[in-house]
Formats: sequence, structure tokens, C-alpha cells
Amino acid sequence: MTLLHYDFVVRALLGALFTGLAAPAVGTYLVQRRLSLLGDGIGHVSVTGVALGLLTGTSPTYTAVVVAVLGAVVIELIRATGRTSGDVALALLFYGGIAGGVLITGLAGQSAATLNTYLFGSITTISDSDVVVTAVLAAIVVAVAIGFSPQLFSVAQDPDFARVSGLNVRAYNLLVSVLAAVTVTVAMRTVGLLLVSALMVVPVATSQQVVRGFRVTLFSAMALGTSVSLVGVTTSAYVDVAPGASIVLLALACFVITYPVGSWQRARRRRSAPFDAGPEDGYGVDTGHTEVPEEHVHRHGEDCGHVAVPHGGHVDYVHDGHRHAAHGGHYDEH
Ligand SMILES: [Zn+2]
Ligand SMILES: [Zn+2]
Ligand SMILES: [Zn+2]
Ligand SMILES: [Zn+2]
Repeated sequence: MTLLHYDFVVRALLGALFTGLAAPAVGTYLVQRRLSLLGDGIGHVSVTGVALGLLTGTSPTYTAVVVAVLGAVVIELIRATGRTSGDVALALLFYGGIAGGVLITGLAGQSAATLNTYLFGSITTISDSDVVVTAVLAAIVVAVAIGFSPQLFSVAQDPDFARVSGLNVRAYNLLVSVLAAVTVTVAMRTVGLLLVSALMVVPVATSQQVVRGFRVTLFSAMALGTSVSLVGVTTSAYVDVAPGASIVLLALACFVITYPVGSWQRARRRRSAPFDAGPEDGYGVDTGHTEVPEEHVHRHGEDCGHVAVPHGGHVDYVHDGHRHAAHGGHYDEH
């Protein structure tokens, strides 16, 4: 490994290691909450943060983390308030982030090439202090993502149930958004702000093709993210391309390779799942209904957000991995 004689390669590999661990760790929760593009939005907003660093002569890593966290909080607040107008508000925030970043970079007298190293990552420009900050931020992200995994999982999987069992759903949602924001900064020098979301999401989607269970998915996504990051950075040290591009294309290649495995498993599960085993569904096996023992505070209805499945003479709601049907004053379960 003669490459390791170059300090910049060692710094780049360290950056890749931290990025590969942190991005999929947060991404697992984003995918579970169907917020796959949240990282992308924060990445856009962070462009302004980088530009502010260039303008003020501060390290863009510091200004980016501040702006990214602020952006994440604003995005979470917008998401919590409304749906239709919230969508437009998010778009405005993202465009403003990019345009503001390009404008301020120009004012700072920096070329587009400088900004490019943050948009798409650049292994040659990572400094020692970047590596240190990245390592500290990544350690925080990974520690929280793993340490709080029971709470974060519960909130992402079933907010209603989590609320009933006493968890502060809003605080945990905010925590995931802030973790995503910090991760964007961690990934900025390796993957770049415009591709960071891919490293949060693609390794998770790939793991979901082959493994089941939340923790297994979390850890295998982290292992995969680290592998593609290290290989991608090594590749771009030989061939002069942005590391972000090779990392993301490697991750996508892994997804394409595992996809057939996933669709085969899904087809097999569909044939044996108890979900479809009722006689009305034509599978000829009556599993019956059992009464749900715990109190059910949330009332399922047309717009409650859960998947509604017409089933015989009633409607079942898919919820927390099982299926409920209102029956008199209680809920029955399959
Ligand atoms: Zn519901
Ligand atoms: Zn039913
Ligand atoms: Zn329910
Ligand atoms: Zn009943």
C-alpha cells in the first residue's frame, strides 16, 4: 500500500471510514420514517453554511454544521405544521440554500471550483483539523444512533404507539433530524453535500434486500457504507474523479446486485405470510381474529395514515407489524 505514504490519502481514508459509519446509521431511521430525501434537503441548505465559512475565513466545517443543524430544525418545524404548504416551504428553503451558497461564495472571491470540492467531495483538500472534527462528530452520531436505538426505532416504526407509551415523539424526531444534519457535515469532504443523501439511503436499502430485523439492518448498512466509502476513496486516489461519485456508484452497484435476492425473498414471504391467510383472501386458511388485549388509544379511520386493507366485511389497518380491525368497542387482530 504505497498510497498510504501520502498523508492526504490517509486523511481521506479516515474521512471515508467516519462517513461510512455515520451516514447509514442515521439513514436507517430516515428510511424507516420514509424521509429518504431529508439528508438531501439538509445538504442543499448546508451549501450556504460552507459559503459563509469561505466568506468569513472560518473553517467551512464549523459554519456548515451550524447552518445544517439550524436547517434541520426549520425543516422539522415546517414538516410538523402543514402538508401542502410545507412542501413548498421546503422547496424554497432548498433552492435558497443553493442559490445563497453560490452567491456568497462569489462574494467571498472564491471560484466555483472551491465550492465544488464541498458539493461533490474532494480527497486532496481534507486537512488534519477536518479529520479531527469529522471523527468527533461521527463518534457522536454513531453513539446516539446506536445508544438510543430502542427509542428511535419505536418512534420511527409507530409514532402513535410510542406516544401512548410515554415517549416524546417530537423530541426524538428532532434528534434524528439533528443527527442527519451533523452527518451531512461529516460526509461533506468525502461524499459531498449533493450526494450525501445517497450514502445515507442506498446502503440501508441494500441491506433491507438481504437481511430482516432492525438492528441487523442498521449494522450491515454501516458495514456496507464503510466498505464502499473506503473502496470509493481508494479508487478516486488512482483515477482522478470526485470520491463522492465513485462511492455512490459503488453503493448503487451493490443495491442492483442484491435486488434479485430481495424480490425473491419478498415473493416467498408473500406466499407464507399470515397477513393473506384469511379465507376471504382465497388462501383457504382461516387464522381467525383474536382480541387485542392492550388499550388502543389511537382510532383508526380513513385518513389515519395507516394502510387500510378491505378484508371480508370489514377494514383492517396495518399497524406496528400486525393488522387490526375495529369490532364493537375493541380491536381484533389477525
Ligand atoms: Zn391508524
Ligand atoms: Zn380482518
Ligand atoms: Zn392499531
Ligand atoms: Zn372481537
